[in-house]
Amino acid sequence: MLAVHLENGAVSMREIPVPDRLPGFALLRLLAGGICNTDLELQRGYYGFSGVPGHEFVAQVVAADTPSLIGQRVVGEINLACHACEWCSRGLERHCPHRTVLGIVNQPGAFQEFFVLPESNLHVLPGAMAMERAVFTEPLAAACEILDQVSIPAGETVAVLGDGKLGLLIAMVLRAHGCRVRQFGRHAEKLRIAAAVGVEVEMEGGRQPVAEYGWVVDATGSAEGLRAAAAMVRPRGTVILKSTVHGMVAVDTAPLIVNEITLVGSRCGRFEAALPLLEHPGIRLEAMIAARYPLQDAAAAFARAAAPGTLKVLLQ
Ligand SMILES: [Zn+2]
Ligand SMILES: [Zn+2]
Repeated sequence: MLAVHLENGAVSMREIPVPDRLPGFALLRLLAGGICNTDLELQRGYYGFSGVPGHEFVAQVVAADTPSLIGQRVVGEINLACHACEWCSRGLERHCPHRTVLGIVNQPGAFQEFFVLPESNLHVLPGAMAMERAVFTEPLAAACEILDQVSIPAGETVAVLGDGKLGLLIAMVLRAHGCRVRQFGRHAEKLRIAAAVGVEVEMEGGRQPVAEYGWVVDATGSAEGLRAAAAMVRPRGTVILKSTVHGMVAVDTAPLIVNEITLVGSRCGRFEAALPLLEHPGIRLEAMIAARYPLQDAAAAFARAAAPGTLKVLLQ
C-alpha cells in the first residue's frame, strides 16, 4: 500500500505493507486527511520526526474486534494513552505521560492507505455528515478546548489574535457559544470567513487596543502574539495561548503580575465537544478548504499547505 513518508524535510511516497491490527485496534482505510501546521513543523524537523505523518482524518473501518464498527465512517482521537496511570484514571488521557500520538509521537499517522488506531479512540460519524466537514473534527476540538478550560459567559467579548486555520475555528466556536468576538488578522479574505457568521474583524496595523478585553486568545503562531495579547487584556483578565512558538518568547512579565493576568496554555481537546459543532451552520468549514490532492500527490499538497496564507489542504 501507499504511505506518505517525512524525513529531513522531504515528503516522499513509499510502498509498505498494510499494518498488523493488534487486539483492541481497528484497521482503518483513509478517506480524507487534513494537513495542519503541526505536519509542516514535523517536515521542518521539529521533534526529530521521521515516518508517516497525519492526525486529521476521516476513515472507514475495515477490520475491528467490534463487528458493528466494520464499514462505519469514523474520526479518531489522536492520543493513544496507557489507560493505567493517574492521568488516564482522571479522564485526562490527552496528558498521559506514556501516550503516543498518531502521526506525531511514536505512532504511524493517517497519511497512508491503511492505518491502525484503538477502537476506543474512534467516533462513528452520522450517515449524512459530509466528509469535508468531519475532517476538521480534530482542529475543531482544539478550538473547543478553550471553553473546557476557561468559563466565558455568553455575551462577553473575546479578542482572537490571528486569522490562520486555528484562529478562524476559535473565532467561529466562540461566536457559536454566544460570545461577542473581535478577531484581528492580516488577511481580508480569511477574515471574511469569520465575518460572515457575525465575528467582528479588524485588520492588524491600526490602533492596538490597550487593556480592553477580559479574554484574549493568541492564535497568531508568532512570538509577537503573546506580547500583543498581554497588552490587550484587562486587569485580572485571561490570556489563552494557542500558538506553539518554537524557541523562546521574550515577554515583560511585570504588567502580567501587576495586572494579575491569568495565562492559560491550550492544546488539543475532546472530540465530544467538537462533533455537535460539525453540524452548526455558524462553523464555516468548507470555506476553509484551499485545495484537495490525491494521497499520491502528498509532496505537492505539503508544498501548497506551506505556502504563506494557505488555509486547509486535504488529501483524499
Ligand atoms: Zn493538527
Ligand atoms: Zn496513562
